[in-house]
Formats: sequence, structure tokens, C-alpha cells
Amino acid sequence: MDRPALPEPAIDPAALQLDGALQLLAQAGRPVPTGTAADPGWLQAVIDGLVELSSTDPHTGLANRRTFELALARELDRVARNGEPALLLVLDIDHFKSVNDTHGHGVGDLVIQAVARALLDCVRPMDLVARVGGEEFAIILPNCPSPFGETVAERIRRRVEATAVPLGPAGLPASDLHVTVSVGGAFAPQWVRSTPSLWIERADQQLYRAKAHGRNLVRLEPSAISPVSSEERRMLFDHFQAQEHE
Ligand code: GH3
Ligand code: MG
Ligand code: MG
Repeated sequence: MDRPALPEPAIDPAALQLDGALQLLAQAGRPVPTGTAADPGWLQAVIDGLVELSSTDPHTGLANRRTFELALARELDRVARNGEPALLLVLDIDHFKSVNDTHGHGVGDLVIQAVARALLDCVRPMDLVARVGGEEFAIILPNCPSPFGETVAERIRRRVEATAVPLGPAGLPASDLHVTVSVGGAFAPQWVRSTPSLWIERADQQLYRAKAHGRNLVRLEPSAISPVSSEERRMLFDHFQAQEHE
């Protein structure tokens, strides 16, 4: 006997409160989809717009900290499973406070945008460039063998150094402002379980070294002797114990 078809779960388009979402998109200068909530394509476009808004940094258009943390956890998981080398770079503009103090916060903002563009110019489409703090950036480079990592980090450092931020009338090189970045990097631990915060900590230690050695420098943790911390060793041990009991 044929069962009667169950009614489709209905969304009452008139009951959806989407004005706030549309206002957010408009205020952020994002495209506001035209249509009505009765159209699933329109609803999807509104959702896509909100996802985009909540995953990017409005000032630079780069990925924001939330997106970075999600991508980092995903990458760590991938490396633990397939052993592919992946590099995390953390970057911090040198002496940025003095840029603000000398030229004002507005110029400081332009510098942050110029550095963001320079970083994007240096990486592959598969790499993720994020603004993770005021004048702090991070880049995740999946499938990145050690020599390539060193080359790209150095290319980034040089590209930022060569970037001119125009301050005054166009065509006057004397009014161009130059900044530098310090870069720290660490490769993901391969074949072990780790945590995003331990990976960030190792890259941060290298950034600290670059700052301490004079700034405008790249310091990468050598991948071959990448240390496995006691915490990672314990996680690995727990993992094998769990497997033995399966
Ligand atoms: P160091 O070489 O050690 O990194 O020195 P620094 O002066 O760059 O470092 P510090 O972290 O002390 O200063 C960072 C400054 O960045 C302080 C803060 O006022 C400024 N800043 C943070 N976010 C923004 C922003 O969005 N725009 C502007 N213009 N300034 C910002
Ligand atoms: Mg800083
Ligand atoms: Mg700084």
C-alpha cells in the first residue's frame, strides 16, 4: 500500500527576520541580493554574503582571525594524516607605533592595507593570508617543502621592504613611506597529533627571534629538527594507546 507523501517542511518566508542581515551587508558595502525570501536562491545569496562578511577582515579584505584558526586546525589535521609539509608564517610590521606617532593613524591604516596587498602578491592561490591582529598577519602554506618555504618567506620580506606607500602628491618619491616586517615560521609536525596553539607558539618563537636579531628578518624553525614537545608526545602516546584498545 502506497503511503501518502509527507508534506514538505515549510518555511514561511514572511516569518523570516532578514532586515538586520540586509542592513549589515549594505553597511559593509557588500552586494545586497535583490529578490524575496520565497526564492531559495535569494536566501542562499544572503547567507553567502553573511558568511563572507564574518570570515574576512573589513579593513584589508584578508581572512580574519576566525577563518585563520579554522583553516589552521584543518591543515594540522591534514598534515597529521598525509605527512605533507605545511608552513605557518607569522608576520609583524616593524616599529609600527612610530608610523602612527609620526604620520597619524590614517596613514598607519594605509600601511596595513599596502602590506596586506604585498603579502597576497607573494603567495599561491592555495595559501591563506590572514590579518590576525592590528599589524599582525599569518600565512598558511599547505604542501610547502622546506626550501620553498624559505624562498617564499624571504620573497615576502623583500616585497614589503620594497613597497612604497604614497604619502603626498603622486610621483614624489621623497614622500613615499617604507616599512618592513619581521617573519617567523614553523612547519607543521608531520605524522603526529598536535594543536593549532602549539604550532602558532613555535612560529611566534621564531618571530620573536627575528625581532630580537634586529627586525626585517626571516627566522624559520628548521623543519628537519622540528621538536616534538612533551605535550605532543603525550597526545601521540594517548593516540596509540587508544588504537591498541580498539
Ligand atoms: P615592533 O617592531 O616590536 O613590532 O614594534 P611596534 O611598534 O610595531 O609594536 P607594537 O606592538 O608595540 O605596536 C603596534 C601598534 O599598532 C600599536 C597600535 O596602536 C597599532 N595598531 C594596531 N592596530 C592598528 C590599526 O588597525 N591601525 C593603526 N593605524 N594602528 C594600529
Ligand atoms: Mg605587534
Ligand atoms: Mg609591530
